[in-house]
Amino acid sequence: MTDNAVTAMDATVKNASVNDLIEKIRQQALADRVPIIQDEGRLFLEDWIFRKKPRKILEIGTAVGYSAIFMNQVCHSEIYTIERNEKMFQTALKNLRCLPFGKEIHLIFKDALEAVSDLADQTFDLIFIDAAKAQYQKFFDLYTPLLSVGGTVICDNMDFHGLVENSDNEHLSRSVRGLVRKLQSFRSYLQSHPEFETTFFHIGDGISVSEKK
Ligand code: SAH
Ligand code: MG
Repeated sequence: MTDNAVTAMDATVKNASVNDLIEKIRQQALADRVPIIQDEGRLFLEDWIFRKKPRKILEIGTAVGYSAIFMNQVCHSEIYTIERNEKMFQTALKNLRCLPFGKEIHLIFKDALEAVSDLADQTFDLIFIDAAKAQYQKFFDLYTPLLSVGGTVICDNMDFHGLVENSDNEHLSRSVRGLVRKLQSFRSYLQSHPEFETTFFHIGDGISVSEKK
């Protein structure tokens, strides 16, 4: 066997173990009922990142680090990710420490509504919003000034289990109806935003892609 063959095989083994680690994190998150992105949404994001190769990504809503880790793995984009829940943040930290990589993933333990000044000198090619649905518009307005030229914002859970497009919401609790209304108004906001071209996909729990014009 040549040296090259050994190196190629090492790389395959390494990738396999990284995928095993990501799969373990996924399984644990599902068992703990952590609302991680659905498989379809993950594939969409990975494909998007593979095609566009964003150098820097900002994520709002780390949870246990699952999406930050798989996004980082596509092409080693540098990731900044914000989480306000201490338990989630600690688990994400622990998950990151288990990985043989991850130097490019920066965890920020803060409410995203208060973290923008920490990042004021940075620009991002992709902003991934996956946190409290009632605040999507605030996150969007707060963080889009940090987008690089030609940058993109991707949001998860835009369908909210199909409720956003369903007008028959009588049976829902007040708080769920409130969230549905917020997401509906955020959708209209994106559609009529003069600086962004937005496409909605019924993928996973609904994904929007807003490209800066
Ligand atoms: N992106 C993750 C899932 C995130 S779940 C994945 O797919 O792997 C949403 C997370 O957003 C929760 O952990 C919640 O604590 C966090 N969150 C909600 N609102 C937030 C806010 N205002 N600032 C920071 N984190 C927030
Ligand atoms: Mg989500």
